[in-house]
Amino acid sequence: MTGAHGDEHRELREQLGAYALGHLTGAERDRVRAHLDGCADCRAELADIAPLAARLAAVDPRALDETPAPPPDLGARVLTRIAEERRRQVVPLRRAAVRRRALSAAAVAGVAAAGGVVGWLVRPVPDPPPLEPVAVQAVEPGVRATADLVPHTWGVEVKLTGTGFADGEVFRVAVTDDDGREVPAGEFVGIGAAELRCNLNSSVLRDDAVAFEVVDASGAVVVRSEF
Ligand SMILES: [Zn+2]
Repeated sequence: MTGAHGDEHRELREQLGAYALGHLTGAERDRVRAHLDGCADCRAELADIAPLAARLAAVDPRALDETPAPPPDLGARVLTRIAEERRRQVVPLRRAAVRRRALSAAAVAGVAAAGGVVGWLVRPVPDPPPLEPVAVQAVEPGVRATADLVPHTWGVEVKLTGTGFADGEVFRVAVTDDDGREVPAGEFVGIGAAELRCNLNSSVLRDDAVAFEVVDASGAVVVRSEF
């Protein structure tokens, strides 16, 4: 990759680990998120490291009293190393899934081997669900929106953030499954220029979900996302 996008891609790719761990400032996070919207490579990489990041982020420091604390940036460094390893490997498509699983195991072993953290990883801590950023297309002028998906056992959750949803108007959200069914995921009231953060739940499982739409009171599509 060359040019401005290539430079940005290289630079932001190294921040994916810190992003997944929630270690970036608001401005850095917005930049990574904007890049993710347009870069399928980085989205795929984030999807790979998100589960490990979730485990690292779930560690309760109070459970470590008899264990030396790992350096605060250890998680981000491990994830950066994984990203570098992946970049060096050219994996034939058919073997990619197998290799990916092997890498995840290697990554966990690498964290454990980093010293003093074996007991830290194997302690039973509940995993927070991983976030999966998806590309969002704002159909209506003046609306801006981003979204993350959370795969639950009971269905997929859409975490929607946006501005420009008309003040006081009711918006409906539906998730489309792979049979083309549109399943309601809830409603919200627009708050105009203020930033809206809204969690919408649908009974469509993540594996079956292919898109979601936000429609206004007249049924017109305001925001659309396909994944
Ligand atoms: Zn990228």
